[in-house]
Amino acid sequence: MKITLEQLGDNEQKPLYQDESKLVFGSIFTDRMFTMRYTDNAWMEPRIEKYKPFHLDPSSCVLHYSQEIFEGLKAYAAEDGRILLFRPDQNARRLNRSAARLVMPTIPEEDIMQAITELVLEEKRWLPKQPGTSLYLRPAMIATEPFLGVHPSREYIFFIIISPVGAYYKGGFKPVKLYVEDTYIRANIGGVGDVKTGGNYAASLMAGHRAQQKGYSQVLWLDGRERKYVEEVGAMNMFFVFGNKLVTPKLTGSILPGITRASVLELANYLGLETEERLISIDEVIEGINTGDITEAFGSGTAAVISPVGSLYYKEKEYTINADQVGSVTQMLYDKLVNIQYGREKDPFGWVREIGRY
Ligand SMILES: *Cc1c(COP(=O)(O)O)cnc(C)c1O
Repeated sequence: MKITLEQLGDNEQKPLYQDESKLVFGSIFTDRMFTMRYTDNAWMEPRIEKYKPFHLDPSSCVLHYSQEIFEGLKAYAAEDGRILLFRPDQNARRLNRSAARLVMPTIPEEDIMQAITELVLEEKRWLPKQPGTSLYLRPAMIATEPFLGVHPSREYIFFIIISPVGAYYKGGFKPVKLYVEDTYIRANIGGVGDVKTGGNYAASLMAGHRAQQKGYSQVLWLDGRERKYVEEVGAMNMFFVFGNKLVTPKLTGSILPGITRASVLELANYLGLETEERLISIDEVIEGINTGDITEAFGSGTAAVISPVGSLYYKEKEYTINADQVGSVTQMLYDKLVNIQYGREKDPFGWVREIGRY
């Protein structure tokens, strides 16, 4: 694929942020983005161009029926000057799985990789260097055909934007409080909960908003049928250290298969920790906390990597895990994963991909 590059003059470049430690997730974007459009059954005009608003017809499919998918991954600055991506092949593969589910066109994995690589290298002056900082890459595909009938769009835009982000844990690696949601659900088996599409987030806003109003940072989602089994936490996958095993809900079809989730499982096995993917009922979780069988809990996802859980609120009662402290397994998995991502520790899995130097 030959990507057309729009050069920027010095006076066309946006001023860089002053303080890397003050970068807020997803609030500023680099000078340029990648775009490519799909029409007449083919992808065309791959470009790295100035970051700017799209011109969309008000009847565009995506604006009415949410035919949209996205991905999220990060580029990291290693101390030795390398620019690293973490398992980008997995993001490319998942993007295409999501596309297939929403009857959208797929993109050759090597073209996705090329677009990401060339864009990051063109925009590398934005790469922050302090510990915990990164470039957050957001590939997305939207349905742009102008029509209000319900059928798959015949036109799309695929784009990638980049946001420099500060360290997720500015106030330290601290456990969060969860609200166990037993009214609203995020997704159901047979729906689109297992693909990265914006509609899932729209469906989750009400519960997330109510939980925050009550003082909880995230929702712990239960299954859509019985409100019985633990599914995800906010937009992260969920783990428990349960009787010396690392246990996570199995992928039933309503859970997003996180790349961090898969990596945590592989890493835990590698480190000699027993892992299990199975149905986990909320009653079992409450009992496990009460008996002390559950010693740790955490969420996993690209943005936070690992987010320790300190307590759960369920049916008018609060349950505290590990005295609201970060547990040793959580801390170890977090340290190892982050060290691999930043190239500080040997990567025995071949997860980290060097795309150039800063
Ligand atoms: C993206 C996402 C995750 C985490 O996936 P990662 O690949 O680990 O970032 C988990 N749950 C939902 C709903 C998501 O959208």
